[in-house]
Amino acid sequence: MPDHTRKREVGRGERTLPGVWRLRLPLPWPGVPHCNAWAIAAGDGIVMVDTGMHEPGSEGHLDRALAQVNLKVETTRLLVCTHAHADHYGQAETIMNRAGCELWMHPHHDHMRAAATDPEAALMQRLEIARQSGVPEVPLHAYGAARRAHGVAAYVEPDRALVPGVQVHTDLGTWEVVETPGHAPSHVCLFQPERRLLLSGDHLLGRVSLYFDYGWSQDPAGEFLASLDRVEALGARLCLAGHGRTFSDVQSHIDANRSLVRERLARVEEVVAGDTLTAFDAVPHVYGDAVTPTNVNWWLSETLCYLRHLEVTGRAARIPGDDGGPERWTSA
Ligand SMILES: [Zn+2]
Ligand SMILES: [Zn+2]
Repeated sequence: MPDHTRKREVGRGERTLPGVWRLRLPLPWPGVPHCNAWAIAAGDGIVMVDTGMHEPGSEGHLDRALAQVNLKVETTRLLVCTHAHADHYGQAETIMNRAGCELWMHPHHDHMRAAATDPEAALMQRLEIARQSGVPEVPLHAYGAARRAHGVAAYVEPDRALVPGVQVHTDLGTWEVVETPGHAPSHVCLFQPERRLLLSGDHLLGRVSLYFDYGWSQDPAGEFLASLDRVEALGARLCLAGHGRTFSDVQSHIDANRSLVRERLARVEEVVAGDTLTAFDAVPHVYGDAVTPTNVNWWLSETLCYLRHLEVTGRAARIPGDDGGPERWTSA
């Protein structure tokens, strides 16, 4: 007899609005049990926004979620990705092959191209950043192992650059592209102005959860703050996010994200004031908790982005490491 006592995450589909369906797809990540792809009615088919991650069984979860709302992968007329992270782009190749549709995505997706086409080189680069940031040898090994699986069926180039001015046509009206870099350099939101609907990807989530890609743009934390301003100006009424439920108090979510970034920036600035330390040593002071193999990548990236923002705004200074040692940070 199969064991039914343990609850297993499976793909689920539900109608959010007439012509909009949430496809809730399981993820193998601790603390992030699922992500959302969105299906939007468009003529005789759908526009699909985001894809879920590619892993054994993931295609079945997508099929199941779509079947629950009487849809099929094959009815996808266009695939749009909010950003090039595995949980939003991982099954792009699968969907494109089965539906014969185009993929539209923002052109700043080098971070995905590197990870998906040469995972070893991308890992070596991440390890080099970690080493340079003062991560000691033991966590460094765990860090390497944790990042090895990248969750992407195959790297595929977008057919069209998803940049401001490009319009996505659906039965609910036309969606505009809003560039929202920060979480990832390739991040965009889609906005439907008449209905004031925002497809927010990972830029705004139901609970505040910050993550920034480090090393692919000048100042990810600063870019994220500017993206919050850009989205605030839209006056969205309902947010369809990349994880979790929809929410309508969009402004309070923008405010909460902005406050948390400012709070953490202030804490990092305080930590480097009157001290000289590595980014890795700064992490526990920023989060008030110890670094573990599961949080090291996340927290280190975020802390590096705060240090970088303080550097470009003249509030912290980077001291290059000598003889291959880690770089250190102090007040400017
Ligand atoms: Zn993401
Ligand atoms: Zn995500």
